[in-house]
Parts: sequence; structure tokens; C-alpha cells
Amino acid sequence: MKKRFLAGLLMFALLAACAVALPGVTASAEAPEKPADAPDVDIHSWEYKLANAYNSVAFYICEYGPIEGQGLDPRVVASASALLKDARAAGYTIYMAQAFRNLEWLENMYLQAFKRCDYDPILTARTFQGIGVNEHQMGLAIDFTDKQANAAKYEIFEDPEIVDSELYAWLLEHAADYGFILRYPADKAEWYGVACPHAHFRYVGVEAAKYITEHDLCLEEFISLYDPEAVFIPEHGRFA
Ligand SMILES: [Zn+2]
Repeated sequence: MKKRFLAGLLMFALLAACAVALPGVTASAEAPEKPADAPDVDIHSWEYKLANAYNSVAFYICEYGPIEGQGLDPRVVASASALLKDARAAGYTIYMAQAFRNLEWLENMYLQAFKRCDYDPILTARTFQGIGVNEHQMGLAIDFTDKQANAAKYEIFEDPEIVDSELYAWLLEHAADYGFILRYPADKAEWYGVACPHAHFRYVGVEAAKYITEHDLCLEEFISLYDPEAVFIPEHGRFA
């Protein structure tokens, strides 16, 4: 009995010595350091919840508040209303083509896209975000449009002309002031792995939105600064 106790004590001492003798050989030391100027946020809070090809939100339940005949997460409604109001005050025509959409609607839209793409899942994925990966289900995303005919359009909608509009330039410059980011920058596809709608903006809060915009990041890159294991990059076959 005494021998076993001594052996246990020796093992404990060895482990403790290793922990002291090997400073730096830990997972956190291998992870890249968060830049000193990155905002002090809780990266696991609702504003940063990921919906992409590798993070399903199929079972995410969104409570939503009313805004211009559609819905958004109630915590986002005031910011979105201010953005719409200020854009109009600056002389732009702006509407929400898509805001909150429920899973049933998204499934229906996906099936329609699947049919249009001759039942080719790869081709479909290039044009429409798959079921469970669409941020509109979280009530945190808005597709903006400058055409009244496209406002609250309950069908698949992608307006390629939006990128050439003055409204788009205004959004790129000012959306962060209201807590929104361009969610899918075209040159960051390897990070999010879904179709990239150009007019899709996502709420992340003002502090994070400003940092992400100023540093030309996508949401996945931003999250990886805090928690690399929360972001999987399949193209590289590894976590960030
Ligand atoms: Zn969208």
C-alpha cells in the first residue's frame, strides 16, 4: 500500500516537473497571438455565431422583431433601422430584399435551386447556400437592394448589379458604423465555403464590425484570432 502511495507521489511529482520544465509547449503557445488592438469581446457570444459550410444552424431558434414588413433578431432591429434611415437621409434608395427567413422557407428555396441546377449538389452550392448554413435563419443578416421591386422578395434573389451601385459603395464604407459587415468577401471563399451573395451583410456589433472592416477580414478570420479551433478550413484540411 505504502509502495503504491509512493509510486503515485512520484508520478505526480514527475508530471508537475514536466509542467514547470516545459513552458511554452502548450496548445495555446502554438496558436497565433491575438493582436493587441483586437477588441475585447466574448467570441462565443451570439453576435459571432458562425453559419457556414462547416457550422450548421439548422436547429437555431431565432426570435425576431418586426422591421419594414420583415423580421430580424430583436437585438439587431434598432441598428438596422438606423442604417436604413441614415442611408436614405444621405440620398440613397435602400430596401431589405431578405432579412429573417425560416428553415422551411430556406429548404423550399434550396430545393428549387437544386432543380434549376439539374440536381447537381455542387452546382447548387455555388448559387445557393445549403440548408442549415444560411445566416438569414438567425435573423442577423440582411440582403440590401436599391430597387423597390426587390424589397422583401420571397424568392431566390441575387442582384449582381448591386456591386456597381453608389449604395453599395456607401454600405462598404458605413455599414460597420451600425455593426454590420460584408459577410462574404469574394476573395475569402476558402474560409467560409458557401456561395457568396454580394449584397449580404451580417450584424456582429459595432466594435467587431469596425475591426473586421479596417483589417479587411472575414468573420471566420476574426473568430480565429480568438479561438483558432472554432474555425475549420477544409481547403487546408485543418483548423485555423
Ligand atoms: Zn443573404
